Amino acid sequence: MQQQNDNDRYDLIIVGAGTAGSIIAAHVAERGVRARDGEPLKILMLEAGPYLKGALNPGYGAPARRAMFTNVSHNESGRWVWPWPEACKMVGGSTMHWGNNAYSPYEMDHTHWMNETGVDWSQDKWKEPIEEIVREFNIGDIPDEMKSHGNNLFTETLKSMGVEPRYVPTGRKNCIYCGLCGLGNFCRTDCKPNVLSYVERAEKNGVELIPDVEVEKVEIERRGEQGVVRGVVFRQQDGTIRQVSADKVLVSCGTYGTPILLGRSGYGPKDQLGDKTLVHNSNIGDHLEIQPGVAVWAQYDFDVKRERGPGNYGHYFWPDFPADGNNVMGIRDTLMSFPTYPQAAALRGVAPRFGQAHKDYMRTATRRVGGLRSSILTAMVKGKVNVVTGSTDYPYADPTNVKTLLWGAEILREIHQKMGAKVIEQDTPKSFRGGHPTGTCRAGSDPKESVVNPHFESHDVENLLICDGSVMPRASLAHKCIPVCTTAAFAARRIIADHYTRG
Ligand SMILES: Cc1cc2nc3c(=O)[nH]c(=O)nc-3n(C[C@H](O)[C@H](O)[C@H](O)COP(=O)(O)OP(=O)(O)OC[C@H]3O[C@@H](n4cnc5c(N)ncnc54)[C@H](O)[C@@H]3O)c2cc1C
Repeated sequence: MQQQNDNDRYDLIIVGAGTAGSIIAAHVAERGVRARDGEPLKILMLEAGPYLKGALNPGYGAPARRAMFTNVSHNESGRWVWPWPEACKMVGGSTMHWGNNAYSPYEMDHTHWMNETGVDWSQDKWKEPIEEIVREFNIGDIPDEMKSHGNNLFTETLKSMGVEPRYVPTGRKNCIYCGLCGLGNFCRTDCKPNVLSYVERAEKNGVELIPDVEVEKVEIERRGEQGVVRGVVFRQQDGTIRQVSADKVLVSCGTYGTPILLGRSGYGPKDQLGDKTLVHNSNIGDHLEIQPGVAVWAQYDFDVKRERGPGNYGHYFWPDFPADGNNVMGIRDTLMSFPTYPQAAALRGVAPRFGQAHKDYMRTATRRVGGLRSSILTAMVKGKVNVVTGSTDYPYADPTNVKTLLWGAEILREIHQKMGAKVIEQDTPKSFRGGHPTGTCRAGSDPKESVVNPHFESHDVENLLICDGSVMPRASLAHKCIPVCTTAAFAARRIIADHYTRG
């Protein structure tokens, strides 16, 4: 193992140059100083995935990056993604890929977070971070003329049902809606904003960034029942192992990656780690929330979409909003905005299975097959990540979720029918997938119920900070990326005030 000499000691090591890690790195490097002497900080950021370099240039992109990741999709296996769901492995993390639905946290999200674990994260404290992220990602509605016929039919139908739809906010910069991004693909021309702008700011302010290195563990020295951080150990591309020391370590490896790395470091539930336990905390890997969802597809005998289109926008509504904001289901028409690519159209439940009928269907399916989707945003059902095996255990077939989603599917069918669909999918699966995982290292005021305090400091390990999707005490009432970004922008302010301000 390569050891460092004392001059190489860092003030802060950030593990994971993803969404939250990059935002915090930029802020701390720009405005933080060493508390004891006011000197600039020595910060190292380590990322397991590659760095597709090049200054961000919305509307054009960076030639090298464009050439490297033209239409790399989030399903791509290997170097770019982790074995667990919804987790990209690269500098920029999961924002590089995200589908671009950009909802800021609602007031109810703050209420949920505060009620769940006692964090003091009220909406008024989030004002500045939210303004920052909305500005940075240029969040808003898209031009009306880009909406598909299906998008417009959806809103007209909802209005005829007495529902006032809201637009799905997206983040786009200088976008000409070229249609090359599809769903869940990179934007080759930097129009889908991602956190690379923060990475650039971090580097300009002295952060040393090493990509393509997987951190194997955070070094924790045991002190009684507690621990103290010493540094990290990581594997370089050539297979050599390196150890670096630091005063503090911030883990920002995502909702799955963070509990798994902490488990590998001996920090986690005793019943999983056994004699490898250095510091016990049963909340690590627990309280996993996702947003299970279902889509209903339909075939129309007129065009609801264009042949090509950048998509993933439209409108949404909540059919019911209980006063406590729990189990809220969201319905949206974003699957009406981008073309149904042939390979997907061929497999839809509305596709005739054989022969001439299938051929006739495929001639127009790209434009005439569209979906509506419902998801339980604030499901009360929770799962777990095993910090040793990395496996996820979420009760997808939970009866409460199933009941709500079957109800959602009925509403989706009714809307399709009112929109004039020719054939509507009738079968609804009884087990549902979902995304936007949160909660596996949740923040809270009680160490027995959480992993970090509301200031993002581990309850149990001194000098260990954590911030990413895992610290969010509940899922939010919409997609997760902007809540993660605003949490990171908020965390950065707290971390600077608490640790990196002179005196
Ligand atoms: C295809 C796709 C589409 C999405 N669409 C949307 C959307 O439309 N709207 C929305 O709001 N959200 C969307 N999301 C979700 C959202 O983007 C993510 O939830 C969010 O970015 C997560 O941020 P994070 O900081 O928690 O993790 P990440 O951004 O994933 O960052 C974690 C980083 O840590 C690194 N890492 C992990 N382990 C290690 C290790 N041991 N050593 C070194 N580095 C490590 C990872 O490689 C990664 O770069 C989408 C996600 C994907 C993948």
